[in-house]
Amino acid sequence: MTQLSDDCFANDGRLMPLAEALAILDDRLVTVAPVETVALGAACGRILAKAVVASDDVPPHDNSAVDGFAVYFDDLSPDHPTELPVTGRIAAGHPLGRPARRGEALRVFTGGVMPHGASGPGPDTVLMQEDCALEGEVVRIPPGVARGANRRSAGEDIAQGTVVLDAGRRLRPEDVGLLASLGQSEVAVHAALRVALFSTGDELGDIGRRLGPGTIFDSNRYTLAALLAGLGCRVTDLGIVGDDRDTLERALHDAAGGHDLLITSGGVSVGEEDHVRPVVKALGGLTLWRLAIKPGRPVALGHVDDNGRAVSFVGLPGNPAAVIVTFLRFARPLILKLSGAAATAPTLFSVRAGFSHDKKPGRREFVRCRLIAGEAGGMVAVKAGRQGAGILSTVSAADGLVELPEEMTYVENGAAVDFLPFNEVR
Ligand code: AMP
Ligand code: MG
Repeated sequence: MTQLSDDCFANDGRLMPLAEALAILDDRLVTVAPVETVALGAACGRILAKAVVASDDVPPHDNSAVDGFAVYFDDLSPDHPTELPVTGRIAAGHPLGRPARRGEALRVFTGGVMPHGASGPGPDTVLMQEDCALEGEVVRIPPGVARGANRRSAGEDIAQGTVVLDAGRRLRPEDVGLLASLGQSEVAVHAALRVALFSTGDELGDIGRRLGPGTIFDSNRYTLAALLAGLGCRVTDLGIVGDDRDTLERALHDAAGGHDLLITSGGVSVGEEDHVRPVVKALGGLTLWRLAIKPGRPVALGHVDDNGRAVSFVGLPGNPAAVIVTFLRFARPLILKLSGAAATAPTLFSVRAGFSHDKKPGRREFVRCRLIAGEAGGMVAVKAGRQGAGILSTVSAADGLVELPEEMTYVENGAAVDFLPFNEVR
């Protein structure tokens, strides 16, 4: 029986599995972003170029974890209350200024430095003030406290000499704080990747103008510019390029200079007006095109030669939902790799499918879903609406993508499936 082509995924040649395409990225691409030094305050989101080794202990000195009284544990009676004279005060940032003595209690506040003794260790234990009774200058301490209680040791957070952060890490706010805790004011990171971006298509008009007959607004460029900015790229917006081979060739050739990566959307399919592939072949080379995924099959990876320098090229599909899927699962790892990141694969989380779904084997399928709390606990992914590659509103309504592997043919309602939250890949 003849199959009429109402299935735009009817096979016409080998499609490359996503894992194979990602392995090619991993194999062939190297970091191109040079190293620069930036102030710590500007380092969040940047990719660390050198491992950071702790130059000091954090905290730098033993200190109290609570407001209370610092004592020598050995001065306490194990089974009766102990009364000790309170003979000193240690507020945070104000050390005692003299050695501690056996037999005394020191009023201490959270973060206050635990003093040394005159010729040996200082108090080793802190009683919470709530547990003690202060009568005049004497504190009454109940029995039962453990030796070393409520004392924080120097280096307990970070020990001097430890590798605190590895090269290739994309710095998070927590990391920035960690580096500040070490007193680091500057950090060596990779420079922002310089990305040139344009859309292709005679039907595209730019926002801010009235649409002509038969045209639509270019949404991909805005989606992609925002995704690229989120990854810390410096984007050059080259606008819209028409479906004309010469114009496209000139645009790609000119864009290569001064950029590390060229990204386009549209024009990579098999239509007569899809000129991107032949142009990239002519200007440099094509490594792959067409992935065994849905949505997003037409994806091209290649390079454009810029006076002997190979500038990576990624041609994303035209359909707006396919753009997002292919960006997150293919272009993003590529960008992270070129930018110097060590880890480029997103983490997928196991959730329950809140739908049943027939699937063709041999391709990886992405289902845009919202997450809801399941009745039996855990999260359930429900379809965010229509799944067409051209439908953007349901991607906007989704929390992420359920990812169905190649070999799967049917998803049963309630089955465990992999979920990629959009938040994971921002
Ligand atoms: P193409 O891959 O060029 O054949 O385009 C596939 C579909 O995506 C067509 O319906 C295009 O009109 C649409 N499309 C292409 N580029 C864009 C864009 N930048 N913004 C919105 N839709 C687009
Ligand atoms: Mg087109």
